[in-house]
Amino acid sequence: MPVMNPMDAARDVLKRYFGHDQFRTLQEEIISESLAGKDVFALLPTGGGKSLCYQLPALLGKGITVVISPLIALMKDQVDGLEANGIHATYLNSSLNKTEARKRYAKLFAGEYTILYVAPERLMLSGFLDDLKKWNVTRFAVDEAHCISEWGHDFRPEYRQLSNLRRLFPDLPFMALTATATDRVRSDILTQLRLKNPKSFVASFNRPNLAYRIENKQAVFQQILRFIQSKPFESGIVYCYSRKATETLADRLRQNGIEALAYHAGMTPLKRAENQDAFIRDEVKVICATVAFGMGIDKPNVRYVIHQDIPKNIEGYYQETGRAGRDGLPADCILYFSAGDVAKQLQFIADKSNAQERDVAKQQLRQMVHYSESSECRRRVLLGYFSETWTQPNCGNCDNCQNPKETFDGTLPAQKFMSCIFRVRQGSGFSVGINHIVDVLLGSRNEKVIKWGHDQLSTYDIGQEYRRPEWQIIGRELIRKGYINQNAENHSVLELTPKGKSALREREPIELTRPSVPKERAQRIRPPATGGIDCNEELFAILRTLRKELASEQGVPPYIIFSDVTLREMARDYPTNEDQLSDISGVGMKKLEQYGETFIDAIEEYLDAHPEAGLHYNA
Ligand code: ADP
Ligand code: ZN
Repeated sequence: MPVMNPMDAARDVLKRYFGHDQFRTLQEEIISESLAGKDVFALLPTGGGKSLCYQLPALLGKGITVVISPLIALMKDQVDGLEANGIHATYLNSSLNKTEARKRYAKLFAGEYTILYVAPERLMLSGFLDDLKKWNVTRFAVDEAHCISEWGHDFRPEYRQLSNLRRLFPDLPFMALTATATDRVRSDILTQLRLKNPKSFVASFNRPNLAYRIENKQAVFQQILRFIQSKPFESGIVYCYSRKATETLADRLRQNGIEALAYHAGMTPLKRAENQDAFIRDEVKVICATVAFGMGIDKPNVRYVIHQDIPKNIEGYYQETGRAGRDGLPADCILYFSAGDVAKQLQFIADKSNAQERDVAKQQLRQMVHYSESSECRRRVLLGYFSETWTQPNCGNCDNCQNPKETFDGTLPAQKFMSCIFRVRQGSGFSVGINHIVDVLLGSRNEKVIKWGHDQLSTYDIGQEYRRPEWQIIGRELIRKGYINQNAENHSVLELTPKGKSALREREPIELTRPSVPKERAQRIRPPATGGIDCNEELFAILRTLRKELASEQGVPPYIIFSDVTLREMARDYPTNEDQLSDISGVGMKKLEQYGETFIDAIEEYLDAHPEAGLHYNA
C-alpha cells in the first residue's frame, strides 16, 4: 500500500470513524501540528470541536493517547461516544470499583485501547506514572487546560501535577485545550505544562449560530412559558438567580404541562446527577438551574438558553449562553431584563463587606447592564469584551441587528430629566431614586411628592409627553451614557455627573434611543447564515423517536447514536441505501454497520407512506 500523506490519512479517518466530510475551523491545523510531534495550545470556543483534535490523531499510528480531564461525569459519555464510532477507549477515575478498574488495567497493559481518559487525581496515585511508562503512550491531551491556573475560575490544584508528567515524558507531544483563557491564564498554561515552543491556535469566540436577544421582563413566567411552548420538541436551559427560583419555575412549568426539573448546588449529589442525566437523555426538555449547572454538559442539541434574571457578569453570560447549539444548528439565547433586577443586585452588592469585591462586582454588573440596554450589535459588545473586534455592520442574528432601534434628538427630554434631578437636590438637599424623579415629571400627587413639596418645583408635571415606562427607559439610557450616576452606596439615588451637569448647562444635543415600550416582538426571520438545516420536520420527528428508543435500549444519551445534524440531513436527503447514508454527516463506518439498516428502513417506510416526499431526491 502506498504511504499516505498524514493529512490525507487524517481526512480519511475523519470520514471513516467520525463520518464528517470537513474539518471545522483550525482543527486541521491543530491536528497537523500534533501529528508532526509538536506541542500545541488550542483555544476554541465551546462547540468548536476540541475533542476531535486529540481523538483523531490517536487513530493514526500505534500506541495510546492519554486525555486528562477534570470532568469525571463526562468520561463515560465520551467513551461511549468513541465506542459508538468503533474507537477503543476507556477511562480511569474514582467511580470505578476495584474489579472493573483491574480489568481495564489488564487491557491497558495488553495495549487494547486507543484512547484513555484519566482524572488528574489519578496521576498522584502511587505507581500510576510508572504504569503509564509501560503503556506505549504516544500523546498527552490536557482538556479544560485552564484548570491549571489559579488565575482562572476553575482552578484545580490536582492539575499542578501535570508538570511532573511533562518531566517524565519530555519527548511526547502535549496538547492543551480550553474554551476559556484570558492572556494571563494562557501564559500560565504554557509555563505550568512546560510546553515546548508550542504553537498556539486561537479561534474566534463568535458563535454564529447563536441568536442573542434581550427582552423586557414583565410577567416573566408567561414570557418563558410562551417561548417554551413554541418549541415543543426542543431542549433548553433556564438560568435563575436563586436555588429557590429554580424549583419554583420547574414546578410551575410542570403544572403547565412542560417536563422540567431543577438543578442547583443545594440538592444532594445524587438528585443533581439524576436530573442532569434526565436532561442529557432527552427525558425532560427543560432544566431550571443556577449557574452551578453546565460545566461538564456535552449535550450538543440544547436549542435555547434563557436567563430569567440578569447574570452577574458578561463572562458568565457568555459561558452559559455558550451551552446552546454546540452542534452548530441555530439556537436562541434570551435574557429577560428588568431595571428592578439590577437595583436588587446592586443592593446585594452593597451588602458585601469587602470594598474591593464590591467595586469589582459593581463594575461587572455595569458591563452586563450596558450590554443589555445597548442598541448596538450584541455580538460586537460581547466579543469586544473578549478583546475581539467584530467589524461587520450587521450580524443578522441578534435582536439589535434584526430590529434596529430608532434614535431621535432626545435633547429636550434629557434636559427635563436632568434638571428635575438638579431641582430636587437644590430644593430638598438630598437626592432621590429614578421612580421619584419620574413621579415629579409626571405630576404625581403621591405622599412623598407632597410631603417634600416637590409639587412646587419648576419641573413638576412637565413630562406628559411620555408615560412612566418610557421615562424610565430615558433615565436609564442617561445613566448608561454617563450623564447620571446611580449611587449604589446610597439607595440607588440619582446624581448628575460632571458630564451631566455640563450637558445641562450647555444644552448639549443628546441622541437617545426611541423608547419603545415592549410590544410583542414580530416573529424573527431566521437568516440562512446561521447553519440551519431545512428538512422534513415530520420525518425528523420520526427519526428522533427512533433514536430515543435505541438510546434507552443501550443506556446511552441519544446524541451518542446520532446528532440532530445527522438526523436532519437524513430527513432532508432521504437516503435509502448504505451508499447514500454514508454521505450523511456523522455516519461513519461503525454507525453505518450498527444502525444503517434501522434508519434506512424507517426512511423507506416513510417514503412508502408519503411517495411525494422523496421525489426531488430519488427522481
Ligand atoms: P468542544 O469540546 O470544543 O465544545 P466538541 O468536541 O464537543 O466541542 O464538539 C462539538 C460538536 O461538534 C460535537 O457534536 C461534535 O461531534 C461536532 N463536531 C466536531 N468536529 C466536527 C466536524 N469536523 N464536522 C462536523 N461536526 C463536528
Ligand atoms: Zn448583531
